[in-house]
Amino acid sequence: MAKTAIITGSSRGIGAAIALRLAKDGMNIAFNDLNMTMFENNDIVDRVKALGVEAEVFCADVSKYAECEAMVKAVKERFGTIDVLVNNAGITRDGLMARMPEEQYDMVIAVNQKSVFNMTKFVGNIMMRQRSGHIINLASVAGLYGNPGQINYSASKAAIIGMTKTVAKELGSRNVTCNAVAPGFIHTPMTDKLTEEQKAAMLAQIAMKRYGEPEEIAGVVSFLASEDSSYVTGQVIEISGGISM
Ligand code: NAD
Repeated sequence: MAKTAIITGSSRGIGAAIALRLAKDGMNIAFNDLNMTMFENNDIVDRVKALGVEAEVFCADVSKYAECEAMVKAVKERFGTIDVLVNNAGITRDGLMARMPEEQYDMVIAVNQKSVFNMTKFVGNIMMRQRSGHIINLASVAGLYGNPGQINYSASKAAIIGMTKTVAKELGSRNVTCNAVAPGFIHTPMTDKLTEEQKAAMLAQIAMKRYGEPEEIAGVVSFLASEDSSYVTGQVIEISGGISM
């Protein structure tokens, strides 16, 4: 039976690139995003289906516990199994801490961090019972090193790193791996909204002197979702063109 991957926030950007790559690897794809409108402006579902795998969209707000529970149940019923979970959905609401309203902090924590608990709890229970599975979380270099203007975002991404290691320890004996990738500056709608000044400042810190492409994240996720990484768990792989050295 073909394996099934569920990828949150996969209508565009890094999530869409991961869906395409895992489909090329032969997996059926459970897409997720907030609503169907997100999928109307692109052909990502058709491109995945053209690769000969099955694909379906499951709309849910992953910051909501009950919506995640219902979505995971629906994916399991549709595909029979969930072998790979990619916790990709994420948002930025940047601003300096001194002026950040409480709601702006709470919203980013809910979407980026609470969602990982929601999804991993329900999918993890399925994976534990089937004694196999790979969970991959999207962290960020902001979670590793901090970033001015991103107190909410860097907190959520640092938390994801702690959660990754905890899940690896809780689920390891059931043959379920959990790893994180920490992208640097990747060309997507999320980063398109940065100013030219902010983009130039990022570029100056990157050893490879270029931004990354979503496909370069998808390649590492593909490895972590494959049996080639069967003894890798609790790790954070930075994909940043050398931003930290
Ligand atoms: P993006 O904004 O292009 O895509 C994110 C997707 O998540 C969107 O389709 C959005 O609708 C969806 N989403 C947002 N809130 C949601 C919710 N509550 N429920 C379900 N879906 C929701 O962003 P991207 O650049 O592709 O980022 C993907 C992931 O990679 C994020 O977790 C982000 O933090 C992380 N990341 C991105 C970069 C970068 O440079 N682009 C760097 C580091 C980490």
